[in-house]
Amino acid sequence: MSELRFNELRGEEVVYAIHRQDRTFLPDRAHCPLDPTRPGGPPTEIPLESFEIVVFDNRFPAFESPRGAAEVVVYTEQHDGSFGGLAPERAEALMWVWRQRYAELGARDDVEYVYIFENRGVEIGVTLHHPHGQIYGYPFIPPVAVLEQAADARLGGCAPCTLVARERAAGTRLLLENDAVVGYVPEAARWPFEAHLAMLAHRRSLLDCEPEELRLLSSALQRLVRGYDALFARAMPYVMAVHQAPTGGRPGTQEGHLHVEFYPPLRTAEKLKFLAGSEQGAGVFIGDVLPEEAAGRLREAIGRGG
Ligand SMILES: [Zn+2]
Ligand SMILES: [Zn+2]
Ligand SMILES: [Zn+2]
Repeated sequence: MSELRFNELRGEEVVYAIHRQDRTFLPDRAHCPLDPTRPGGPPTEIPLESFEIVVFDNRFPAFESPRGAAEVVVYTEQHDGSFGGLAPERAEALMWVWRQRYAELGARDDVEYVYIFENRGVEIGVTLHHPHGQIYGYPFIPPVAVLEQAADARLGGCAPCTLVARERAAGTRLLLENDAVVGYVPEAARWPFEAHLAMLAHRRSLLDCEPEELRLLSSALQRLVRGYDALFARAMPYVMAVHQAPTGGRPGTQEGHLHVEFYPPLRTAEKLKFLAGSEQGAGVFIGDVLPEEAAGRLREAIGRGG
């Protein structure tokens, strides 16, 4: 079992998942644990000869029942590929998988917050290349969600609704838009090419979305990710964070607004943005590209990414 401790100085939980030290680290191509189990081949995590999307409990969980959950979501049986390269129907199906997991994990008493995310690229510590994401069911509301609740309070309503309206009015940082989703580089982005995709309508979670909105969300996500790959003509490493309403706590509120944040750690094709003295010790991000310039370059790359 992992152990939870409260860090008094920061006022936040820290999780110790000691067994994770033994987890599979960049296995060679023939021993990918996220491949299907081929007849006559070595068994993988997935005892199926073929599959579309698979979800299973993380074998090296940071959280597990009865104190949360940690799941792996494998997007495809194709080892070489990416979220951006999935067939549009598969990417759309993934939205429905996410929605189902949000509903099921969110209904559990030991889960207060369902967090869907993807880590991509060795630059941010990915241990398996096979296209996949993860879902954590936190037994508490994590600090970033608490900060977003504070933003709601500060702005006197839904913060993403306010920010979407501001970005559309400003127009200088917009990346893409369809009938359900708008994408932009936030006015005060912390990462050089950070981008957010937000639902245009106030949707607390995937559960509130119409089927067409889910389709348009998957399409916008894929366009953005393909744009990232086009930006430096290389697979762009990133953290993709899906933010939705907490599933524990205050029932009946309208809090939470589905949006997806991307934090790519690159500032050029080769140079990483490191979190150093100011970011780590003082909590102040220092950027060297203005969000308007980043948006212009990313917008152009999205046009090329198709
Ligand atoms: Zn694989
Ligand atoms: Zn809203
Ligand atoms: Zn957010």
